[in-house]
Parts: sequence; C-alpha cells; structure tokens
Amino acid sequence: MYFYTCSVKIVDESFLKKINWKADVMSDVWNPEKTENILKTTPKTMICDALMNQDIFSGVGNIIKNEALFRVGIHPESLIGNLPSKKLKEIISEARNYSFDFKKWKKANVLSKHFQIYHQKNCPKCGAEVVKKDTGKSKRTSFFCEKDQKMY
Ligand SMILES: [Zn+2]
Repeated sequence: MYFYTCSVKIVDESFLKKINWKADVMSDVWNPEKTENILKTTPKTMICDALMNQDIFSGVGNIIKNEALFRVGIHPESLIGNLPSKKLKEIISEARNYSFDFKKWKKANVLSKHFQIYHQKNCPKCGAEVVKKDTGKSKRTSFFCEKDQKMY
C-alpha cells in the first residue's frame, strides 16, 4: 500500500465502526439514493460545493468535481434545488464513475492526458474558451464551458 501527501493516524476499532462507509463514493456500500436524499435537504447549495463536501461525497476532489460536471453538462454554480431529478441522479452516479477512471488513469500515470475541462484552454466539444472561476462557498477553482454546461 502506498500513501502520498497525506497524514496517517492510528485509530482504534470503535472509531472505525463509526465511519460512514456509505459516504465513500468508491465503496461497495455507497448509496446513491441516500446521497440524493441528503442533497435534497439543501436545495440552495451549489452543486460545486456539495461535490466537495466530504461528508456526502467522500473521496471526491476538485479534479473529479470539474470533470464529472463537464461529463454530465451541469454548470458548477447550479443550485441543487433547480436540478431536475434526472440530472441530479446523473451527477451523483458520475461522481462515482469518474472516481474509478481517476484511479485507473492515476495508476497508469496518464491522468492529466484525460482531462477534458480541468486546466484546459478550450472546450473539447465546442472549442469555446474554458472559464476558470472560484465558485461557491468553498471558493475552489472551477473550470467549465458556458455553452455545454447548463446553469440550473
Ligand atoms: Zn463547450
């Protein structure tokens, strides 16, 4: 097992039992329905902030946030409450899907080659200039195409 730039803490079993593994997007017990219900309790939250919330999408980082939102065509500043149920389900499942691609590409050292929107100059779909902006309460950098990612 390899660890990169992280802190390691020794914990006892009682601590491990309290961890909500269902929030880990790569876990076999990850629950998209439950995730959807949690998201719906904060309709005024921007989807970019929700994706970075480690209590909801444990394991999702800024790269995954940007790439997953591009794949499903959702603007990062969209409000959860404005997303149609279909789109909400799409971004939830894409957060998991992309995490597996991320792991596979990272392992093969080809992650950045697969970036479609993250730190890109032009949108691979329409060629428009990619917008770079600090979005949401978390003020993390978002990269998006205004034409291909709809604001809800
Ligand atoms: Zn575009």
